[in-house]
Amino acid sequence: MTSTLPSGLSSSAASLPLPVSLRIRQRLQEAGVPFLANDNISAYIAEGELNQLEAEVTGRVRDLLRSLVIDIDNDHNTEETAERVARMYLHEVFKGRYHEQPKIASFPNVKQLDEIYTVGPITVRSACSHHLVPILGNCWIGIKPGERVIGLSKFSRVADWVFSRPHIQEEAVIILADEIERLCQPLGLAILVKAQHYCMKWRGVKEPQTSMVNSVVRGDFRHDPNLKAEFFELVKQQESMLTS
Ligand SMILES: [Zn+2]
Repeated sequence: MTSTLPSGLSSSAASLPLPVSLRIRQRLQEAGVPFLANDNISAYIAEGELNQLEAEVTGRVRDLLRSLVIDIDNDHNTEETAERVARMYLHEVFKGRYHEQPKIASFPNVKQLDEIYTVGPITVRSACSHHLVPILGNCWIGIKPGERVIGLSKFSRVADWVFSRPHIQEEAVIILADEIERLCQPLGLAILVKAQHYCMKWRGVKEPQTSMVNSVVRGDFRHDPNLKAEFFELVKQQESMLTS
């Protein structure tokens, strides 16, 4: 297929202005930039287009509700569901795709700190790419500082931004690690995420207690088994503080 129009649009519709999602998509394709579910595309959304996108998504969600044979014209509960869902996707649960990374300043490590520290638990909220149902969990970040440092609260902000996209947990952790490395170039970085997947609790196998744990270790945490063990020990201590 050579046309960039979605198959649902007839050729007579081609003379109409392109839906904003198609304009953004064309821009991404021309730049050769991927726009997978867990990619941030904010740099390719022009000013004012996010509002247009919200209107477009609202219309599509309305169509979805109609296809689900829900009488949105007479049901007072779902009358404005399409507007709510569009806002929720674009500005809340998937804001990490459409909004820029929050501004995070880094500072020179003037005291040459070289002891490791961990931050956590940081609450992470995401949704699975396969069904768009929630993934909720905790994240711990271990740092061996390098030349630059960032404030403790900034780890929560960057984690929230990265996780607020449709994801699979394994990739979310890697993307978060890449962003933290970019922000403060630590000598060592370790991240552990423990999350509940509603994909397994609410549907599918309906296993309410299953959680998924995964981690990524880089730099000194990867090369030094003692440092890595120290990180997991610190996480265990932080966890026991929660339950005590
Ligand atoms: Zn799923």
